[in-house]
Amino acid sequence: MTKTFTLREVDDHPESSMSTTTPPLEIDHRIPPSPPPLHEDPDLRRQPNLNLSLGPSPPSPPPPLEQQPPPLPNHFLPIPPIYFPEPQPAVAPLPRRNRRRNPKHGPREGKPKTIEPPFPWSTDHRAQVHSLKNLIDKGINTISGDVQCKRCEQVYQIEYNLQEKFLKVGGYLAENMHIFDHRAPAHWMNPTLGKCNYCHQENSVKPKISEKKNSINWLFLLLGEMIGCCTLEQLKYFCKHAEYHRTGAKNRLVFLTYLGICKQLDPHGPFNLIF
Ligand SMILES: [Zn+2]
Repeated sequence: MTKTFTLREVDDHPESSMSTTTPPLEIDHRIPPSPPPLHEDPDLRRQPNLNLSLGPSPPSPPPPLEQQPPPLPNHFLPIPPIYFPEPQPAVAPLPRRNRRRNPKHGPREGKPKTIEPPFPWSTDHRAQVHSLKNLIDKGINTISGDVQCKRCEQVYQIEYNLQEKFLKVGGYLAENMHIFDHRAPAHWMNPTLGKCNYCHQENSVKPKISEKKNSINWLFLLLGEMIGCCTLEQLKYFCKHAEYHRTGAKNRLVFLTYLGICKQLDPHGPFNLIF
């Protein structure tokens, strides 16, 4: 399937991604009364002619395999009938050995299979966002997230234009992943941070990453090219739920996380892991 990315620039130097080439930085006017002006015109968020071809079909819903189990005893009851995002070996019965019904404690082995989506752009699966097509259909075109200045410690919210930033980040990845050798480039490992809207210090605004891993704003981190701000543990969490191997150095996990989120956004895009 052919993907068409309209790359505005191949020599996209991401160190400028947040402050100079990123138009739709906006501030949350709820906090202090007079945030400084932004550097660029937010009107760029209207880009009707974006040439990103979405795949022909939206991501298919979970496979129905687990949904209609034959009327076995009651073993399936405590488990919501949703597919399993974690890699499940084909040998079916074994992994269930500890999943006993225990009405007092709810699902064992911890966790329900689905979560309350932490953001409008999140699905009810951990570390998963909707496809770009679904988001556009839902009218979601702006992705916001919290940041905090390392200097003045001000916390505020910034926004990214979804399509514009995905074209930039996804396009860059698609163009260059064959030379990455499954490792994130240096500027993704140590992102140049944005300029603070309050104290105006450069390279000072870092994302506020939720301590609850199932509430991490992955799409915001992707669009801001700030995945590298995640800890190893957070990256492993994403890779686990994206069904990537969770081993390896941090630059590999950062690469996989970029790749995985881009694939969620554009499931038919050129974001398959190639060995
Ligand atoms: Zn500041």
